[in-house]
Amino acid sequence: MKINSYMARMNKAYLFADIAQRVEAYKTAHPDKEIIRLGIGDVTRPLTPHVAKAFADSALAMGTPEGFRGYPPYEGYDFLLDAIIEKEYAPLGVKLSRREVFVSDGAKTDTGSIQELFSPDTRIAVTDPVYPVYVDSNAMAGRLGFQENGIYPRLITLPCTPETGFAPVLPAGGIDVLYLCSPNNPTGAALTFDQLTPIVRWANENGALIVYDAAYKAYITEKNIPHSIFEVEGARTCAVECCSFSKNAGFTGVRCAYTVIPEELMGLDGDRKVSIGALWRRRGESKNNGVSYPVQCAAAAALDDIGQKETAGLVAGYLSNAKIIREGLQKAGFTVYGGVNSPYVWLQTPDHMGSWQFFDELLSRAQVVGTPGAGFGAAGEGYFRLTAFNTPENTQRAVERIAKAF
Ligand SMILES: *Cc1c(COP(=O)(O)O)cnc(C)c1O
Repeated sequence: MKINSYMARMNKAYLFADIAQRVEAYKTAHPDKEIIRLGIGDVTRPLTPHVAKAFADSALAMGTPEGFRGYPPYEGYDFLLDAIIEKEYAPLGVKLSRREVFVSDGAKTDTGSIQELFSPDTRIAVTDPVYPVYVDSNAMAGRLGFQENGIYPRLITLPCTPETGFAPVLPAGGIDVLYLCSPNNPTGAALTFDQLTPIVRWANENGALIVYDAAYKAYITEKNIPHSIFEVEGARTCAVECCSFSKNAGFTGVRCAYTVIPEELMGLDGDRKVSIGALWRRRGESKNNGVSYPVQCAAAAALDDIGQKETAGLVAGYLSNAKIIREGLQKAGFTVYGGVNSPYVWLQTPDHMGSWQFFDELLSRAQVVGTPGAGFGAAGEGYFRLTAFNTPENTQRAVERIAKAF
């Protein structure tokens, strides 16, 4: 039996496993030291009471003859599709129909699976630094060639640095699919209307598709930033948008997300135009069994009036941590980005230190764990990510330790 060589020859050193190993080694050598983790991209606060109650009540209902439900609809129950359309999009002036919204168990699942719709020779572009899922899913499918010295020969990487305003500089042609994440993991930067509008125009002019990951849209606090790519004119003919309940409502362990695919969005099969939404629906009907009823009830509860208020409280808590990090490090002389429309703060390592070297120094001098920028791509070298996913107390203590140590 021959295996998938593209998968077998992928880089094995997985970023977070590597980090865990270094932290373990440090703990073994220094058992008396207390470590604070600002490295994880996972939420830390519990589900809100209203959401937890909807989750539990619907689970109990499944244990009654009247309340029992079998396989859910592949693309989500109407009550959740309607809640997403009315609560997440209508207030932005974005009109969607039920057939344009696809509920799933994760934005990772969707951003990782969408590439199944692309031909093997599709030219893929990602921003650098990048959320690794977009790259890995295309690599496994053989679309990027074999990695050599950390570089995929058929992947186009677009550096996003302070010099580019953390937006990609787009070549005139040569790209079929562009993955974008805004607000961005890991840089914490959010694309403004002024930055996103020309990208949408570029995609339409080039016949390219934008896969827009808006998992952190709830963290947007500034006015000139779109909460959806569909707020930008022309996006309905060039973009799909992936959203999630993970980072706003704390659903990383519950699992619920959704992808929006406009009916106008087409791809080419030779000369024939094919609906991307129809293809995604067809794929899902063969590969998915939808999302469980209690999970969808919990997600809908997060979108009703009480749920929205509670969820906004969760996000505000994380944003307040991000502010503690951002302002504390700024005061200590660091150059920092992000943390305003995002739970991530992206800092420049002091004295042009390599990002893995800074990781080790931060661990040994301040006992704080973060994520080296180089782990997200070559353009992340010289940068470092800290996350707001911890308690305010620990966040404050971590910042004090960093300020003292550097
Ligand atoms: C956390 C995260 C997601 C959310 O993924 P889920 O599978 O819905 O939990 C999506 N995109 C990015 C960039 C993320 O950091």
